[in-house]
Amino acid sequence: VALVPVEEARRHVLDACGVLPAETVALEAALGRVTAAEVVSPEAVPPFANTAMDGYAVRAADTSGASDELPVTLRVARSIAAGQPPGPALLPGEAIRIMTGAPLPPGADAIVMVERTRPASSVSGGDAVQILAEADRGDHVRRPGEDVRPGDRVVGPGTELRPAHLGVLASVGVTSVEVHGRPRVGVLSTGDELVEGGGALEPGQIRDSNRRTLLALLWDSGFEAVDLGIARDSEEEITAAVDRGVGACDALLTSGGVSVGDFDYVKAVLDRRSGGSMRWMQVAVRPAKPFAFGVVGGVPVFGLPGNPVSSMVSYELFARPALRGMAGHTGSSLFRPAVQGVAGHDFPRRPDGRLALDRVVASIGPGGRVEVRSAGGQGSHVLTAMARANALALVPDGPGVVAGEELTVWLLGDLVGGGPA
Ligand code: AMP
Ligand code: MG
Repeated sequence: VALVPVEEARRHVLDACGVLPAETVALEAALGRVTAAEVVSPEAVPPFANTAMDGYAVRAADTSGASDELPVTLRVARSIAAGQPPGPALLPGEAIRIMTGAPLPPGADAIVMVERTRPASSVSGGDAVQILAEADRGDHVRRPGEDVRPGDRVVGPGTELRPAHLGVLASVGVTSVEVHGRPRVGVLSTGDELVEGGGALEPGQIRDSNRRTLLALLWDSGFEAVDLGIARDSEEEITAAVDRGVGACDALLTSGGVSVGDFDYVKAVLDRRSGGSMRWMQVAVRPAKPFAFGVVGGVPVFGLPGNPVSSMVSYELFARPALRGMAGHTGSSLFRPAVQGVAGHDFPRRPDGRLALDRVVASIGPGGRVEVRSAGGQGSHVLTAMARANALALVPDGPGVVAGEELTVWLLGDLVGGGPA
C-alpha cells in the first residue's frame, strides 16, 4: 500500500469538514468561541474623562512655577470619589481632592498626584493643599474614548475569544456575541480486550485508556466531548454506537480496528454507514500510520488507531485541526505552533519513508534557545513518554538528527523554563 503524506491526508480531512453555523451566545458562555462577525462598540471607553491617580484635580495654569521650594497653595473645595458625579466646576485658585476613576470636574484640566502635594494650613478657614510640581494640561487624565470610541471595531470576525476580549465586550455593554458552533464530538473505543475502570484484569484484557485521553483532548481543545463508551468487536455493537454518535454529535472519533489484518468490524461498519466514502490510509508518519476518515450522515468520522500514543498523535495531526476549522478557526491557527529548536542529543532513526514524530520535552535553555530532548520510550504504546512530553519533534525520513542540529517541534503545551531565574 502506498503511504499517504501527512499533508495530503490532512488536506483531504480539512476539505471535508465545513465550519459550523453561527449562533448567538451570552458572554458568560463565549470563552474560547470563535466570532462569526465583527463586534462594533456602541459606546466610548472610558465613557467620561476621569483620573488615573489619587490626587488633586486642578487647572494646570494655577500650578505654574510650583516646586518643592516654592509650592503653590490652592484651596481644597471638596472631594470626589469613584462613582460620584463630577459636581460643580472648579474655580480658579481651587483644587478638588479626587480618587482614581472619579470623573474630572468641569474646569479642571490636570491631576496632581497626591505624592506631589503636601497638606497646607487652612486658607480662609477651609482646607488647603501645597502643590509641589507644575502640572501640564492632561496630566493623569484618561480622556473619554481613549481606549474605545463609539463605532470602533473591538473584535474582528474569526477571533478566538480570550478573557481580555470578553472584558472588552463587557466594557462596552455588549452582553451576547455571534460565534461559530462549538463542535460536539463523540468518542468510541472498540475492542474485545478493553475494560473500563479499576478491578482485576482477566488474561488478555487491558484497560481502556484511549477514551480518557481523547475525551480530555477534546475538552482541552475547547470542544464538547461525548462519551460513547466501549463497543465490543462486533458489527452490531459498533453499528449501534456509531449510529448513536452520528445522531447526537457534529463529529466522531473512534479508536482501534483501523490497522490492517484486524478483525475488521470497524472497517465493515464505517464502510457501510459511509456509503463507501471511508478512506483507509497508511500515513507516512510514525506513530499514527493507520488512519481512516469519512463522512457518515453528514458527520465527519475519524478512525484513529488503537495504540495509545498513535491515537493521540493522530488526533493532533488530523482531528484537532479539522475540528478547529469546524469551530471557525482558519489558516495557521488550525495548527499547533511550530518552533525551531536544537537537538539536545542524537535522534537516530532508520529511513522508512515516514516522518517520525518523537515525543519530546522542549525547554528554554541558556540564551533563550529552545532545547529538545526525548521524553522517553518512543514505542506507540509508551503513554508515559507522551505524558512527559510537551511537544512532538519532527525527525525527517533519513539517518536522523545529531546533537546540536536544528529541528522543528510542534508545541502541544507550554514551553518549559525561561521564567524568573
Ligand atoms: P487495534 O487497532 O484495534 O488493533 O489496536 C491496536 C493496539 O491498540 C492494540 O494493542 C490494542 O489493544 C490497543 N488499543 C486499542 N484500543 C485501545 C484503547 N481504547 N485503550 C488502550 N489501548 C487500546
Ligand atoms: Mg482492536
